[in-house]
Amino acid sequence: MTFGIDDLPIRDELRGKSPYGAPQLDVPVRLNTNENPYPLPEPLVERIAERVREAARELNRYPDRDAVELRTELARYLTRTAGYEVSLANVWAANGSNEVIQQLLQTFAGPGRTAIGFEPSYSMHGLISRGTGTGWISGPRGEDFTIDVAAAEAAIAEHRPDVVFITSPNNPTGTAVEADTVLALYEAAQAARADTAGAIVVVDEAYVEFSHRPSLLPLIEDRPNLVVSRTMSKAFGAAGLRLGYLAAHPAVVDAVQLVRLPYHLSAVTQATALAALEHTDTLLGYVEQLKTERDRLVGELRAIGYEVTESDANFVQFGRFDGEGAAHEVWQQILDRGVLVRDNGVPGWLRVTAGTPAENDAFLEAVRALMKERSEKEQSA
Ligand code: PMP
Repeated sequence: MTFGIDDLPIRDELRGKSPYGAPQLDVPVRLNTNENPYPLPEPLVERIAERVREAARELNRYPDRDAVELRTELARYLTRTAGYEVSLANVWAANGSNEVIQQLLQTFAGPGRTAIGFEPSYSMHGLISRGTGTGWISGPRGEDFTIDVAAAEAAIAEHRPDVVFITSPNNPTGTAVEADTVLALYEAAQAARADTAGAIVVVDEAYVEFSHRPSLLPLIEDRPNLVVSRTMSKAFGAAGLRLGYLAAHPAVVDAVQLVRLPYHLSAVTQATALAALEHTDTLLGYVEQLKTERDRLVGELRAIGYEVTESDANFVQFGRFDGEGAAHEVWQQILDRGVLVRDNGVPGWLRVTAGTPAENDAFLEAVRALMKERSEKEQSA
């Protein structure tokens, strides 16, 4: 018997758990982690090198603790693209939106408090809740993967959560959330916590640049408990950078500073993110191509005979695969053909990220072959 995690005095709620993470397998076509398939354009790579070289000259010093230049540029980007004016005071940045979410939970939840999400949704909301000692409540979602407002309101009224997560577009289903739904749940969450200063509602917009609909950012107007979280991992094609941010009332930005580690955002990260923001237009051009590819995947998967959930993101949920473990079996069969997609554990469904046209063709060819095999088997049976 080797010494393992459970021989250590770890917290009881971590015992027997596995770390988050999709398999990182070395296969020709990887469409499993919702990454942007396009490498950064060469002029941007050059600009990053320049900016990082400048930053390197001052690496003996701590970075700008408040990331003022970066937050100012992020505010400009939001104002330009989301149709609502925000400024430095509304914006906070951290190492990926995962860290933004962690800071929000450390500030507004934690031991003795709870957070709710409507599942299936981004599983890290639950895992970061656990990591911060926050009780996690799995709220309901409708058959078609939209949020059923009445059922969600009832869950909020019953559990009185301190934090409510609304992911739009949702991961792994691709489903966008209507502004009216966010408003209804915001009101329900404030009413349920009327005995306190209310509840924080986090709208996770990691994929919003790929959506057919506008950002929900304007809803922060006059709603100090509403926070919109964003990332440069998807639309900016910079998952390796680790840069996430939020927009909210300035009081929220002041509050998260109570828990952020000093100098959490390195000078190298700030310099790189600033370089990427200089190239916003080029990067958003790739987003347009990916939206076209996403729509093509939806159309072709349906033509092949799969069911596809309406998608506003850079990925598509497809199925259905009936029977216990059926989705995983298909996941393996697609993998055997050199294409890695994601089994998020949603019974009957798999998720594929929109890649380059060639990657998507390889994926479509694999599933077309599978479908053909299946119908041949059914005919001979
Ligand atoms: N929110 C959602 C809905 C996500 O799917 C992801 C990443 N898969 C994140 C947040 C976190 O992204 P990052 O930390 O790279 O910003």
